[in-house]
Amino acid sequence: MEILYPNNFAKLFSTMLLVFQLFSDLNHTKDFNRESVSSIVWYQKSAEAKALYLQGYNIAISRLIEIRNNKPSETNLAVVLDIDETILDNSPFQAKLAYSFQNYNNILWSKWTSQKNADLLPGVARFFTVADSLGFEIFLVSNRYDYEQEVTLENLQRFKLPGLNEENIFLRKFESSKKDRRDTILSSYSIELLLGDNLGDFDDVFDTKSLEEREMNVMKNADKFGSKFIIFPNPMYGSWDDLLYKNTESSRSSETKSSMRKEVLKRSN
Ligand SMILES: [Mg+2]
Repeated sequence: MEILYPNNFAKLFSTMLLVFQLFSDLNHTKDFNRESVSSIVWYQKSAEAKALYLQGYNIAISRLIEIRNNKPSETNLAVVLDIDETILDNSPFQAKLAYSFQNYNNILWSKWTSQKNADLLPGVARFFTVADSLGFEIFLVSNRYDYEQEVTLENLQRFKLPGLNEENIFLRKFESSKKDRRDTILSSYSIELLLGDNLGDFDDVFDTKSLEEREMNVMKNADKFGSKFIIFPNPMYGSWDDLLYKNTESSRSSETKSSMRKEVLKRSN
């Protein structure tokens, strides 16, 4: 008997959403997507973005060296990395959305991931080399869907990253929270360092919270940033943007989203 996995539901939902958008939201979507252009240009063209990735990975490498010096013979040390906008650069996909008539959906996303053409971000290769040579087990925990496992692996394998192990890649089966997948790793390893572009990559204390609660929890965990948590810049998308529109009746209207973005801005007189 064929089982209907949530992935199939997700695909069906995305298709329905796509049809809905095409008929009801065309012009607003176009305007809304174009609002992302400056963040994508910054991400792709600013040397500052590259420098921030290098800064993050350099700090991460310093931490690995310190941790290994303190625990010279531990064999169960692990690092956990997110994939998108942490290891791989998907900004060409974001640029395509910005110039198309469609919002993000899983079908468009899968079309991009199946091309296996995402580039490696600055600093990643050196981090893998050092982590592997210092005996850290490298885990990738990503909210790419489970059905993207093969294309994701093939994309990553292009870069011949030391320590990349197919069995250590945990994609999303059901829920978006990464807590359960981190707990699975914790049952055999000590997670020493987590790297990501979204707070949810680090701890469930940041999952599905309001913008205010997330900010509060960042302040509460201030000493972990740069020591256990290494965060990378992503001005293109993320929970910070999704949460702006939470509890909005017309949560799928691009016009509403666009005006809500403007409403939250702190403005001078
Ligand atoms: Mg990410």
